[in-house]
Amino acid sequence: MTQPTFIQVAVPSPLRQTFDYLAPPGCDVKQIKPGSRVQVPFGNRRMVGVIVGSSGTTDVPKDRIKPADKLLDELPLLDRDLVALYQWSADYYQYPLGQALQTSLPVQIRKGQPAAEHRPRMLRLTTAGKALEPAVLKRAPRQLQVMQLLRDRAPMTTAQLNAAFETPLSGCLKALAEKGFIEEFLADEEVPNVRESLYGEDAPLVLNKEQQFALAAVRKESGGFAAFLLEGITGSGKTEVYLQAIADSLESGKQVLVLVPEISLTPQTVRRFARRFNREIAVFHSALNDGERFNAWLRARNGKADIIIGTRSAIFTPLARPGLIIVDEEHDASYKQQDGFRYSGRDLAIYRARQLDIPVILGTATPSLESLHNALSGRYHYLQLTERAGNASHPDYRMLDLRGETITEGFAESLFSMMTSHLERGNQVLVFLNRRGFAPILLCRSCGWIATCERCDTSYTLHRLPHSLSCHHCESGRPVPAVCPECGGKELAAMGMGTEKTEQTLKDMYPHIPVYRIDRDSTRTRDGLQNVLDKVDSGAPCILVGTQMLSKGHHFPNVTLVAVLDADAGLFSADFRGQEHMGQLLTQVAGRAGRGDTGGEVVIQTYNSTHPTLQSLVNDGYGPFARKLLDERRLGNLPPFTYMAVIRAEASTRQVPELFLRDIRQAAGEPARGLSILGPMPASMEKRGGLFRMLMIVEAAKRSAVQHYLARAITRMENHPQGRKLRWSVDVDPLDFI
Ligand code: ADP
Ligand code: ZN
Ligand code: ZN
Repeated sequence: MTQPTFIQVAVPSPLRQTFDYLAPPGCDVKQIKPGSRVQVPFGNRRMVGVIVGSSGTTDVPKDRIKPADKLLDELPLLDRDLVALYQWSADYYQYPLGQALQTSLPVQIRKGQPAAEHRPRMLRLTTAGKALEPAVLKRAPRQLQVMQLLRDRAPMTTAQLNAAFETPLSGCLKALAEKGFIEEFLADEEVPNVRESLYGEDAPLVLNKEQQFALAAVRKESGGFAAFLLEGITGSGKTEVYLQAIADSLESGKQVLVLVPEISLTPQTVRRFARRFNREIAVFHSALNDGERFNAWLRARNGKADIIIGTRSAIFTPLARPGLIIVDEEHDASYKQQDGFRYSGRDLAIYRARQLDIPVILGTATPSLESLHNALSGRYHYLQLTERAGNASHPDYRMLDLRGETITEGFAESLFSMMTSHLERGNQVLVFLNRRGFAPILLCRSCGWIATCERCDTSYTLHRLPHSLSCHHCESGRPVPAVCPECGGKELAAMGMGTEKTEQTLKDMYPHIPVYRIDRDSTRTRDGLQNVLDKVDSGAPCILVGTQMLSKGHHFPNVTLVAVLDADAGLFSADFRGQEHMGQLLTQVAGRAGRGDTGGEVVIQTYNSTHPTLQSLVNDGYGPFARKLLDERRLGNLPPFTYMAVIRAEASTRQVPELFLRDIRQAAGEPARGLSILGPMPASMEKRGGLFRMLMIVEAAKRSAVQHYLARAITRMENHPQGRKLRWSVDVDPLDFI
């Protein structure tokens, strides 16, 4: 074997390769370990790269090879496993390694700063604050709470304080500082981003039979890699099983990594973990500043944090002594990054658990077909919780056939009477409609003109507050015209329903009952959402109207009726995952009902009550429904029975991306046996944000065939004369063709 002479460095460059350098002056190549950062000359700039290997040979000519400037880490910053995880994912998702590192490492690491924690800024009471009479703040209860916390717990960071509240404190802290009651200072040492001492210890619950069985199965395999699909209906106690499995792992001195969907990473979620364990938790949430994120990363890496909770990118957290990985709501689409480095956090969790030889639990009420397939074929251990934990009972499903019904603004007459009777019994009602805004279409009654977005293939949605037209795909908007721009007609009609209109309808219909709307528009501020949730939690009769935001995380114990206004939208989607997603969404929404002692009712309005898929979902439940979809996927040669990737290209004219992809396809020649290439064809929304979007679908029974084709196509795209003029991307295991 030749002696290593060159180091291989991953540099943030769009090129899919590593770069060879000589060791920095004064360093011996043999002493340099992969995972250390190094500063290198790159073009006419200096860059921070990560050493991923060394070699005795290089393709770089002798007179061109340069020495690296300097080694930034004496000991590797990323351990061998983490380097291997990055390498594998860059390879699998066909993304440049240097950029993959770039997108997920903390800013300070990327900039080459030393891997040492920052002393954070902390808040403490001033002398005036210490002397303060509580009565002074009686009109500002949050400020008072903050003062009390600081008094009880001594100084805290903003992140720690925020972790103790449901909503951000920024305004409140500013007010207290301005009044001179609190002040900032630089801490003497680093601190965790959640202060566990805030919370008392919750005792573990006594598990029911199914939970015991699940926990025992996990325990049995705790010595090495094993993947579990924990399928449990909403409220069946999955989280309790996670918590007890986590306790085992912590007791044996190991760390636990918990991935949650974006929307679930709330203070409530973190608190549930913090209350159970008197251990340090590192949380990766979007409200962290760079310094806090860096500290959390370092505390996971050096083992100070025992539990690490975060969204998909947390899968790349360094772990000192990994013991268990949990992926909650594994079906959630937010686990797949939808641009740039298009990895799946869930799928990488499986890879990482195998690599680290530890168990991984995927939990959900509505498994993705991928995970279900793996469970049914024996690759994953399949654990099921079919009963609601505690006393809660199952909801009853019912289809409401709209044919022949009298319908007012989207509500069947009989739905109104059901709602009335639930409300009269003092209960709450949830109305689900997955379309925000007032109406999806504004139409001229005399000439048929429809207000459409110029930049996208879609109509503008009419919004009432503020009164405007807005495109839900490119966020562009414009004022509502007073008359038709085509014919001058005065009668412009809002067609179809959105949540704003439904809210109005319900307010007119039930003038004495509060109606709360929950969607992206009504909850722009976190306070907005929390205020509504607080009111709903109080338990008084009310109606909730909302989009899929209602299907995630929040539990509404007093909701006894869930009404799905339009189940048909998801039935005829062109996307091969359309029905799967519809089934997950409806089941998750339905799961919000009847959490308390009262069983709930779920009513689904449809014009397609005889549609076999919908029937299967409503009559048999998600499990049998999903198995039926799996059979269809098998017959249709679709994932998870085949492997798929999409090559996308977009530009400001239709021809450019089409010709580009055609060239790429042609240059590849006849596809190998077992490989099928579809396209170039328009994306399901061809024009979006002013760009024309084309795609090519690559599919094969063998993963390696897809990978092989992609690797060659990418080389051609990188070298194509248009390659730098248009935007192209590769999406392995795509979620959709939008
Ligand atoms: P999931 O994660 O499946 O939605 P949770 O773990 O949140 O379910 O449990 C739902 C509710 O049931 C929670 O209030 C939880 O405290 C309670 N619970 C869970 N397991 C048990 C148990 N074994 N005995 C009593 N209550 C339980
Ligand atoms: Zn007109
Ligand atoms: Zn648009």
